[in-house]
Amino acid sequence: NRRIVLASRPHGQPKPENFRLEQTDVPQPGDGEVLLRTMYLSLDPYMRGRMSDGPSYADPVAIDDVMVGGTVCRVEKSNNEKFSQGDMVLGYSGWQDFAISDGGGLVKLDANMQRPSLALGVLGMTGFTAYMGLLDIGQPKAGETVVVAGATGAVGSVVGQIAKIKGCRMVGVAGGETKCRLAVDELGFDACIDHRADDFDEQLAAACTDGIDVYFENVGGKVFDGVLPLLNTKARIPLCGLIAHYNDTELPPGPDRLSLLTRKLLTKRIRMQGFIIFDDYGHRYGEFAAEMGQWVKDKKIKAHEDIVEDLENAPDAFIGLLEGQNQGKLVIRVANE
Ligand code: NDP
Repeated sequence: NRRIVLASRPHGQPKPENFRLEQTDVPQPGDGEVLLRTMYLSLDPYMRGRMSDGPSYADPVAIDDVMVGGTVCRVEKSNNEKFSQGDMVLGYSGWQDFAISDGGGLVKLDANMQRPSLALGVLGMTGFTAYMGLLDIGQPKAGETVVVAGATGAVGSVVGQIAKIKGCRMVGVAGGETKCRLAVDELGFDACIDHRADDFDEQLAAACTDGIDVYFENVGGKVFDGVLPLLNTKARIPLCGLIAHYNDTELPPGPDRLSLLTRKLLTKRIRMQGFIIFDDYGHRYGEFAAEMGQWVKDKKIKAHEDIVEDLENAPDAFIGLLEGQNQGKLVIRVANE
């Protein structure tokens, strides 16, 4: 049984030495428990927060503890009447081959699901985030302009496709030409701008001639600087993530631009609202699952996944995620089905 634990807390960007691979015996389930075999592990930006012990909305991973993470698992042994050997379940068993569970929090997946990994992406946490953030907070209306960064990533690719279903003009932001082309050609964005371009602000303005009505905030940093002057009166900003800042070790250098932001929010009457998906919307999961399930079945939404083989590659893949190396929802295939 392989497991990857947090060896030390990163300062700035995580490094391979912050993780440690360990070998242990396969645990045995007690009364009422099941033994889970990890098939797929989800890697997500929030894990950077769990590696630090600063104040956050969730507790950090303790040093020497297994890294946390959403998983799709197969039940290998069951002493729990609710589960049978062979069941596929969605769980939160982290970066390891095997785990014991008392069944609490496990969700049974459809045994005939063609791509179980989608339960970690478009049909799971990241799809749910895109759906609720865009529809409930963003409130997009047909004809409006919506902007999202990480346009080819797990959340952004779904935001873009839902906004198109709702009849919006959809402008993506992504790192590099290849990702921008993919956003337009494969995911249906009307335009996609490379945030690494020197004239990013000008290109974004040219793609948003009617201003921006909804900015789905995934990144912060210089993308937000480019967006701010383009926001329309009564624009909505679902504040989902700030990945450009997750490795920051101090505040950015001045001048202090907070009053620029607050004045803009006031004069343009802009609504900016943060959300933590399961805390704020857990009660609406059923609604999401039904509608998204149908959209995926009808091929109105494409699942864009980046599957990396082998648990041992998880640290490098995670470090790459924070640098933009992933192409779609990042998932580790831990075992073959
Ligand atoms: P992605 O699949 O989009 O992967 C992360 C991407 O972020 C990278 O591929 C890269 O794309 C982009 N990125 C990294 N650094 C920068 C930077 N400095 N400037 C601009 N873009 C950058 O991740 P997810 O879709 O899983 O997550 C997207 C955001 O949503 C994250 O901020 C995450 O924390 C947040 N989130 C929030 C949730 C909530 O409940 N509030 C739930 C789930 C996710 P590129 O190469 O295109 O720049």
